[in-house]
Amino acid sequence: MSTLKAIRGTRDLLPPETALWNRIEATARSVFARYNFGEIRTPVFEDTALFARGVGEETDIVSKEMYTWEDRARAQSEKTQTLTLRPENTAGVVRAYIEHQLGESGQLQKLYYIGPQFRRERPQKGRYRQFSQIGAEVIGPVSAGSESPLRDAEVLEMLATLLDELGISGWTLQLNSVGSSADRERYNQALREALVPLAPQMCVDCQRRAVTNPLRVLDCKVPADQPIIETLPRIADSLDADSVAHFAAVTAALDAAGVPYTRNHRLVRGLDYYTRTTFEFTHGGLGAQNALLGGGRYDGLSEMIGGPRAPGIGFAMGEDRLVLTLLALEDAAAQVKVDAYIAPLGENMNAAALNLARELRHVGLHIELGDGSFRLKKSFEAADKTARCIVILGEDEVKSGILTVKTFATGIQTKVARAELAAFLSE
Ligand code: ATP
Ligand code: MG
Repeated sequence: MSTLKAIRGTRDLLPPETALWNRIEATARSVFARYNFGEIRTPVFEDTALFARGVGEETDIVSKEMYTWEDRARAQSEKTQTLTLRPENTAGVVRAYIEHQLGESGQLQKLYYIGPQFRRERPQKGRYRQFSQIGAEVIGPVSAGSESPLRDAEVLEMLATLLDELGISGWTLQLNSVGSSADRERYNQALREALVPLAPQMCVDCQRRAVTNPLRVLDCKVPADQPIIETLPRIADSLDADSVAHFAAVTAALDAAGVPYTRNHRLVRGLDYYTRTTFEFTHGGLGAQNALLGGGRYDGLSEMIGGPRAPGIGFAMGEDRLVLTLLALEDAAAQVKVDAYIAPLGENMNAAALNLARELRHVGLHIELGDGSFRLKKSFEAADKTARCIVILGEDEVKSGILTVKTFATGIQTKVARAELAAFLSE
């Protein structure tokens, strides 16, 4: 029988690396709380129509990367539905915003999420079919200030703070504006015309995009196409006065807060819902998959999926890529040793050892418990691998209340009264 393995593009996360994942999530939660974001958890699968409408039929995600299936009706009262594993979380958050009428409060909704997303992409380093995103959205009625450029700047400043607190140095913030949907329409037209004579000299993907979705040509990575792309019109020249002023206010606030950025005229992002500010944080340590996170403003998204007018801005960070970056920067997942290893001398000491471990764990110490069937040599070897100290527990120790503790770093063996043990191990 062939052995079963995790599906291509999925993977098991194991200790000690999972400690790093937990540290990243704890840091994100701490930063989000300081900026007054609350957590939202939406279902992992949704009606396929949500992504078709919310992400866009023309995008790579919807056209070829979604895990979609027919969910058969189990009763007369049910309908057979077409469902999809979420490829991203913004559409789900906006659906929840609409469904729970969160806009009725008149307040901005500031929501964050942490969880798995699914895309049928070609797996490679930093690109998986199940991956985890940490994201946040600021969304609400216009009267709550949801269109304000200050919201964009605050989200970007929060991201700079989060990356700094995670210890990810050397990131670059790439910033652009794709304008209003009218600006984008104008730009699409300008691009389409400019591409008529140029597309035949470009890669096959670009030849297709030039017709179906000209904006996507700007994402092309084929080296030979780059000089041609540089000659194309820039979206900055298609923006109306409001979009120009909005972008200027975002950059002015970033300058005031000392958040560095570079303008990237080609940053149009892969999803159809973006308007005005778009951004990506990249990191050189990641190689080809260099985007740590991406996001932008999506002023028309709520209406696209049948909701009220609710402008918003958000981002999604690739948690897998944060982990890769930190692993490259330091030995971030190094095994941390527990405070002590309790070694019972003989199986008749196992119960007493469990009780001692329980006492020490109750006061917050990290304890590994050995087994009385091990020879002393084996206990020492196991302890040296996992703990800073070994505590020997035999009949004499239980009777006298004096325990023998060896500290591996110094090699010193000490007699410690049981009542003093927790304090000794805490040092
Ligand atoms: P990329 O250009 O790397 O494909 P994207 O534009 O598809 O990214 P988004 O949909 O905006 O990315 O997702 C935001 C972030 O999620 C990305 O910047 C990346 O860090 C992460 N991400 C996206 N797809 C994957 C994947 N298949 N595996 C791991 N992380 C991913
Ligand atoms: Mg992608």
